[in-house]
This record gives sequence, C-alpha cells and structure tokens, in this order.
Amino acid sequence: MSSSTDNSAASVSNKKRPVIAIHGGAGAITRAAMSAEKEQLYLAELERIVSAGQAILAAGGSALDAVTEAVRLLEECPLFNAGKGAVFTHQGAHELDACIMDGRTLDAGAVCGVSHIRNPILTARKVLENSPHVLFTGAGAEDFARANGQEMVEPEYFFTQERYDQLQRAIAADTGVMLDHDGATLNASGEPIDPEHKFGTVGAVAIDELGNLAAATSTGGMTNKQAGRVGDSPIIGAGCYASNNTVAISSTGTGEVFMRTVAAYDVAALMEYAGLTLEEATHKVVQEKLLPLGGSGGMIAVDKFGNVELPFNSEGMYRGFARVGEAPVVSIYRS
Ligand code: ASP
Repeated sequence: MSSSTDNSAASVSNKKRPVIAIHGGAGAITRAAMSAEKEQLYLAELERIVSAGQAILAAGGSALDAVTEAVRLLEECPLFNAGKGAVFTHQGAHELDACIMDGRTLDAGAVCGVSHIRNPILTARKVLENSPHVLFTGAGAEDFARANGQEMVEPEYFFTQERYDQLQRAIAADTGVMLDHDGATLNASGEPIDPEHKFGTVGAVAIDELGNLAAATSTGGMTNKQAGRVGDSPIIGAGCYASNNTVAISSTGTGEVFMRTVAAYDVAALMEYAGLTLEEATHKVVQEKLLPLGGSGGMIAVDKFGNVELPFNSEGMYRGFARVGEAPVVSIYRS
C-alpha cells in the first residue's frame, strides 16, 4: 500500500548502528529431546540467515530489504514453519500467511490463506509496493501474485514428511489445533504428542543506517488448524508492526491471543503513549498480557534507538540478532 506519509526518517540525522533480529518460532524442542547435532543445525541455519540480513545492512541496504531477504531465506529452509516445511491444516492442506511493514511510511502488505505462492513474503512486499490495498486472501492473493510475476508452485512443494507425521499425531491424539511448542503435551499414554515439535513461524525486524525500521513475518499457521483459519502473522499490529516513531516487532505463538491483545501494536503504544522502554513494554505484553489469556510465544523487537529485545514465555524461541560490525548471536533456550 503506498502512502505519502514520511514517518520521521528524514529528521534522523545521526547515522544509526544497523541491526537485524530474526526468529524461527517460539516452539522449541524440549531441551531433553534436543540432540547436540540438531541444536547445532538450528543454530547454524539461524546464523547463516541473520548474517545474510546483516550483510545487506552493512552494505547500506534498507531495513525493508534486509527483513524481506531474511524471511525469504527462512521460508526456503524446511526446518521452519513457513514456506517449504509449513504445517498442515486439519484437512491436509497448506495455507500460508505473511506480512511486511515499513516503519518509515507505515506502508504495509500482507497475504493470507495462500497455497501456491513459493515465497509469500515476496508477494506481501509486492502488495506493499504495488497495491492500494494492504491484505489479500486466498485466490485473490494468488491472482495478485501471478500478475506481479511471483513464482508459483504446486501445493506439493510445501510437503515435508515431518509435517505430515505431525498432523497425523495431532489428529490421532485429538489435540485440536496445535502450536509447535504444544508438542510436549502428553497423550493418553503419557507420551509427548509430538516429540519432534521443532518448527516455528518466522520473522525479522531491523533498523538501517538511516534509522528506518521494518518488520516481516511468515507462517504456515498452526498444525491441525481448520481450513480458512487465519492467525496473527498477517495481521498488522498483532503479528507484525513497524513505526519509525517507536519499534519494529514480529510475533510468534498462539495467534488468536496475539490478535485479541493486538500484541505488536500494544508494545508500540506502551512506548509511544506511556513512555515505557522497549524492555518494559515487551515484558509487559509477553509476560503480563499474553500469558493470563493462554498466549504462549514471544516476539522479536528493535526500537528506534537500535535496542534489541527477544522475549518469550515458552520453553524456547529460535532467535538471533546481528549488529553491523559485530558477530551474530543466536540461541534457542533461555540461557
Ligand atoms: N502465530 C502463528 C499463528 O497463530 C503460529 C506460530 O507463531 O507458530 O498462525
């Protein structure tokens, strides 16, 4: 969606120290079930992808380009629940959602319920750039993608055996809709429903050298979701938000609760209207607002000063950040 608003970038005179943060979902394999090799694989992929975003920022690229590329790479990686490797709906299909927002202009683009677009985040970016609208659904989103030269794929492209097995376990255990990190829930025989619950929604947030903020989020949603269900990820203010006045946020977790609490925008509002710091605002939302409503998950956040917070209330969150000129930092668990 194009707009004429210029949200303060022009007034930023200091050269900022650019930084990017990414997440691969708040669902983490329980520590007990995580082998050293598996952990290394996740950490290596997170480091590779956050480094790619860092390189764009280091070359003077925009925050918008850095988050687009980081999320595209996360979508391409089958370890994570977005693009290739996305979770299945109850009906055995893939319905993908993605969103991107430019903190400089408050322009945004999003798609939801798509099954034939290889990289939903690239189509969301096209919506931001080429359409007067913000959010396209289903067949209309796919028509828009085709008209804008996006790579289309057959739904089988998104298939991974692990995801299919995960759906069968959820159906057999009659869990209802399941977040990746719900996999530790025990079935009637006292075993974890999904000991391999190793995937997650993906996202990226960044600030560039001009002080412009951007955020992007992409997901397959929740395992065993009903056809047509849309979560927080493609919803501005819930799963994704960026404003140069305050902060860029990408969320992951129980989408319905992030929507009901308008979680990403709530952080921005607490900072803008109540004067909270980034740390205070993200803590309040993740620990005090989401949890009481059963909202499990976390978020990644970069504020207009380049501060970074990566809070979560789940066992872990695949995450990393990289400042230009410094080594990337990646982690999964609390310590
Ligand atoms: N928030 C996503 C959704 O509800 C799921 C996730 O973050 O893993 O669709």
